[in-house]
Amino acid sequence: MNTVRILVVEDDTAIATALVTGLEREGFEVVHAANAAQALNSLPVEFVLLDLGLPDRDGIDLFQSIRAVSNAPIIMVTARGSEHDRITGLELGADDYVVKPFGLRELVARINAVTRRSTSREGETTLLQTLGDVEIDRRTRCVRVAGVEVACTPKEYGILEFLARDPGSVITRQELMDGVWGPQWYGSTKMIDVHVASLRRKLGLSDFIETTRGIGFRLVVEQ
Ligand code: CA
Repeated sequence: MNTVRILVVEDDTAIATALVTGLEREGFEVVHAANAAQALNSLPVEFVLLDLGLPDRDGIDLFQSIRAVSNAPIIMVTARGSEHDRITGLELGADDYVVKPFGLRELVARINAVTRRSTSREGETTLLQTLGDVEIDRRTRCVRVAGVEVACTPKEYGILEFLARDPGSVITRQELMDGVWGPQWYGSTKMIDVHVASLRRKLGLSDFIETTRGIGFRLVVEQ
């Protein structure tokens, strides 16, 4: 098993202890830093959970310092009501954020979703991917069926491209939402069904995108 090494930057001892214990129980290797100086000394790591309210340095500032030397995904932790921090963080390229207080299960789900996204990003060597009659050209964001170009909307393309990163696997509506709309998007996942229906119509392949009832979708690809 591949253990992900997570850096938890958190100055509140009680929260830090709970996070370290909880994440270790989930199988992560956890390094704790109580301030910005310790955080920078703990690099490199594979994932960063960064509390923005730190005693020795501005959290956003620390975020930029970490980003300058590390490609590790970063989830920001903000106190309730710090809307400004949240927006700044996402604009600067944080991979996600959580608002205190948050549950461990929610956090782990977000860590897994971010890891999945960044892995697909790095592993995206297949610029031209062929799945049966369907061809996805990631350089031009163009989709062809049996050689004929299909005029997809950006969201339709995004959904197809995201599903195609792991053909055959069931991708949940939430994963699609996070991957295509972004984690900062709050809305009903029902709208995904509307886009998928339209995409199916355009592709003209009724069995290619399969709905897994109550869960999500998968691409059905004959091997
Ligand atoms: Ca704090």
